[in-house]
Amino acid sequence: MPIILPKGKKVAVVLSWDFDAMSAFVLRGETTPTFISRGEFGARVGVPRVLNLCDKYNFKTTFFIPGWTVETYPELTKKIHEKGHEVGHHMWCHENAPDLSYEKEHELLEKAMESIKKITSKYPIGNRSGGFACSNNTIKLLQDHGYLYDSTQMGDDFNVYKCRIGDHGSPNDPWHFGVESKILELPVSWAMDDWPLFEYQRTPTLNPGLHTPSEVFEIWSKEFDYMYENISNGVYTLTLHPYVSGRAHRIMMVESLIQHMLKREGVWLCRGEDIAKCWKD
Ligand SMILES: [Zn+2]
Repeated sequence: MPIILPKGKKVAVVLSWDFDAMSAFVLRGETTPTFISRGEFGARVGVPRVLNLCDKYNFKTTFFIPGWTVETYPELTKKIHEKGHEVGHHMWCHENAPDLSYEKEHELLEKAMESIKKITSKYPIGNRSGGFACSNNTIKLLQDHGYLYDSTQMGDDFNVYKCRIGDHGSPNDPWHFGVESKILELPVSWAMDDWPLFEYQRTPTLNPGLHTPSEVFEIWSKEFDYMYENISNGVYTLTLHPYVSGRAHRIMMVESLIQHMLKREGVWLCRGEDIAKCWKD
């Protein structure tokens, strides 16, 4: 694989945090106090706990933050940035990209990028689309706006790869694969996302969530063990949310996971942008 990790590093781990706060609730019109407070927990309690955890184990990570959340919490976003963590793009207000026209997605991408730049003095180079859903235009838009990587697709688990542009097809014909883009993919999966496993939700659809941390630790630690033993230069990307895994019993498990990983030699806890910069064409 054309990814070269720094000397002495065998595998990389990106414990990424999607700091949505209440953006997804607001997008759906769920603006009553309890919905707002549920998202607010991520800012009041979750993010400070995550920042402490990163400090304790001395690593930098990536926070994907909607532009709307950046503007709602400018001081907290600034703190995240000043601690050396990466601020990646995560839509304007957590929109579902396939619902947007090309023009609307383009407009909101630029709006969110300006919000991030106001805080960090630079445009983001990493993207995670809301709800793990890129549109057919997303990768082209990212490429046109100077991004280096995406972390929304599921075509691999521990090998990063280049996204395609221009796929098309129908049930009547075999799939037509488009051309390789410049955008590197740090692949994700629902099993490697805290939201479906932990978050109880009644509306708009039921998600039972509320697994115990030990069940989730089993999934996430086994994924890591498999990668460590079988994939050279593997990249383990986990998707976490401050309002979900910032809860006490869950953040304790995330810490146990970090300890489990650091028992092995050559494990690099890093940001998405660090991985993008390790790619050699
Ligand atoms: Zn999100």
